[in-house]
Amino acid sequence: MPGDCILIIEDNQKNLKLIRDVLQYHGYTTLEAETAELGIELARKLQPALILMDVLLPGMDGTAAMKILKSYAGAQHTPIIALTAFAMKGDRKRLIAEGFDGYVAKPIDIKEILQVIEDYLSRTPANGL
Ligand code: MN
Repeated sequence: MPGDCILIIEDNQKNLKLIRDVLQYHGYTTLEAETAELGIELARKLQPALILMDVLLPGMDGTAAMKILKSYAGAQHTPIIALTAFAMKGDRKRLIAEGFDGYVAKPIDIKEILQVIEDYLSRTPANGL
């Protein structure tokens, strides 16, 4: 819901800016990181309601970062949505099997990403559902 804090971990500045602008326009608060390492630090300190995680990142990749976050008591129930340009059919299944809660393909479809975020936030136990 509007006001919820979303952490965007994405090394492509154009994508990062697009997603940030769309989320802020729709009333969300955003945190941004261009590396997995910084993203993990922000997630630990500031406990966002949801995390959008690019899979291909410099240094640690998004899958490794997701696994680290899922192992923290504080972040284990935070939905983590993979952002990936991989267009192959098996990727969605593979990413979910690895532990991601959801998947949004790039190039980013604005309506789709907003819908996915709303769906996951409405399922979060912290929101009383
Ligand atoms: Mn990337």
